[in-house]
Amino acid sequence: MAVPFRRTSTTRKNKRRTHLKLRVPGMNECPDCGEMKLSHRVCKSCGSYKGRDVVSK
Ligand SMILES: [Zn+2]
Repeated sequence: MAVPFRRTSTTRKNKRRTHLKLRVPGMNECPDCGEMKLSHRVCKSCGSYKGRDVVSK
């Protein structure tokens, strides 16, 4: 079985792991109120979509 010749340095390990991060998929900032919202959905906090108020209060 092949065995690594050199141990992986902390820098190399950390560089490899820059791609491992937590991120919420399909979330964007609402252009109207600045809250996080799901893309292609009406904003939950202000009820707007594409700059228009679509949910009447
Ligand atoms: Zn909003």
